[in-house]
Amino acid sequence: MNPDSRYSPLLQQTVDHALAYLAALPQASVGATATLEQLRERLGRPLPPEPRDPAEVIRQLVGDVAGGLTGSAGGRFFGWVIGGTVPAALAADWLTSTWDQNAGMFAVAPAAAVVEEVCGRWLLELLRLPPTASFALVTGCQMAHVTCLAAARNAVLAAHGWDVEQQGLCGAPRIRVVTGDQRHGTIERALRLLGLGRDCLVDIPVDRTGQLNARALEPVLAAQPGVPTIVLLQAGDLNTGSFDPFPEVIPVAHQAGAWVHVDGAFGLWAAASPEHRRFTTGMEQADSWATDGHKWLNVPYDCGYAFVADRAAHHRSMAHHANYLTHSVLARDQVDWNPEYSRRARGFATYAAIASLGREGIARIVADCCRHAHAIVTAAARLPGVEACHVPHINQGLLRFLDPKLGATEADHDRRTEEVTARIVASGEALFACTTWRGLRCMRVSVCGWLTQDHDVTRTVQAIKTAASL
Ligand SMILES: *Cc1c(COP(=O)(O)O)cnc(C)c1O
Repeated sequence: MNPDSRYSPLLQQTVDHALAYLAALPQASVGATATLEQLRERLGRPLPPEPRDPAEVIRQLVGDVAGGLTGSAGGRFFGWVIGGTVPAALAADWLTSTWDQNAGMFAVAPAAAVVEEVCGRWLLELLRLPPTASFALVTGCQMAHVTCLAAARNAVLAAHGWDVEQQGLCGAPRIRVVTGDQRHGTIERALRLLGLGRDCLVDIPVDRTGQLNARALEPVLAAQPGVPTIVLLQAGDLNTGSFDPFPEVIPVAHQAGAWVHVDGAFGLWAAASPEHRRFTTGMEQADSWATDGHKWLNVPYDCGYAFVADRAAHHRSMAHHANYLTHSVLARDQVDWNPEYSRRARGFATYAAIASLGREGIARIVADCCRHAHAIVTAAARLPGVEACHVPHINQGLLRFLDPKLGATEADHDRRTEEVTARIVASGEALFACTTWRGLRCMRVSVCGWLTQDHDVTRTVQAIKTAASL
C-alpha cells in the first residue's frame, strides 16, 4: 500500500474531528462533564491483542474522551493560567508531528534548528531582553527554571572556584536562593531537581502590593556576605500578576554578587504590550528569565522558553558531546542549550504563532486579555455579596463571595467562595479555580486565551451573577 493511502482518509477524518471540536466550543460546557469512573470505563479497555483500523481507533478515541476535555481552547476558560492555540500555531503543531523531526541537533533536523535560532532572536526582541542572551525552547516554565537555574548554579559556584559540572555538589559551597514568599511552586521543584534542596531557600515576606522590595532584600543579603547567591524575582505573581520592582531590587542583588533569575511564566509578555510594558521596566538587567509559550503566546502545549544573559554559563551547564553525534560548527545544536536530548521540534509552533500575529497581534492579545480580566472583576464586584480582592492591572484578578448570613466569619466566606466557584463551573458557562491569598479563599480570574471576546465576558459575568444569587 502506498503511504498516502495509509494516511489520507485517516488524516482527512481527523481534520473533521478537529474542526467539529472547535466549532462546538462556544456551546460546549467549559468544564469537564464526564466523571473519573466514566472515563476509566470508556477508555480502560484490555490491551488490544491485534491491530485495528486506525480510523476506527481515532473515532473511538474522540467518542471516549467526550466530556473529559476542558474548554481551555475556547474563550471562557479562566482557571489557572492557561492559553488557547492560535490557528497558525495549531497548524504548525500538526506539521511538527507529521514531519517528526528530532530537534536535538542541526545535523538531524536542520530546519528545526534554524527555526529555533530565529525564534530565540524574535522572542528576545519581543520580550525586550538583551539581544545577546542565549535561550532554549523547553517543555514549559518548570523546565525553563531548571535550565536557567542550572546556568546560575554553574556561574555562582564558578565564582567560588568550584566546577559543578565536573565536581558535582558534594563538598561544594552551599548556595542560598533568596526569594519572595509568593514564589511559584515550580521554583522549589527546579531547586530540588538541581540538588540544591528546599533548605537553600530564604523566603522574604512580600509587601502589601505583593512585591519583594529592596529594603527587605538588602539586610537578608548582607547577613551572609560572600555566600553564592541566587535571587529569584517575579514578573507576574500567580494570584495578582504583580511584578517585583526590578529597577530597585536588581542592583541590590548584583551589588551582593547574586545571580538574578526572573519567573515570568506569563508576566514576561507584558513587555510585548506598549500599554503594559512599564511593569517590566528594568527586568532586562536580570541574568536569566523563564517564560511560557503555551500560556500567553497561545501556542499548544508543551512550550516554554529559557533565556540566559551569560551565554557561557548556560553553555557550560548544558553542553553535551558524544563521538557518535554530528556536532555542528556553524549552526546551533539545541542539545548544547537544552536539558533534553531527543526532543520535539517545538520551534515550529512558536515560529508560526509569532509570524502570524506579528508584534502588533501579540500586543493585542496581551492588552485584550488584561482588558477582559479587568472587566470581569469590576463587573462582578458590583454584584451584591461579591468583593474584588484584587482588581487586575494585568490579566490576573481575585474575587471573593461573601456569605450573607449575619455574623458570617472569614471561614464562612471561604466556604461560600468555594461553593459559588463550583456552581459557576457546574453551569458549564465558564471555568475558574480557587486560590488562597493572604489567608483568604478567592476565585482567581485569569485571562490568557486569545479567543476571549467581549461577549464571552458578558456571558461570564451573567454566569457569576446567577451562581452568586443562589
Ligand atoms: C504556570 C506558571 C509556572 C509553571 O509553568 P509551566 O509551564 O506550567 O511549567 C511558573 N511560574 C508561574 C508564575 C506560572 O504562572
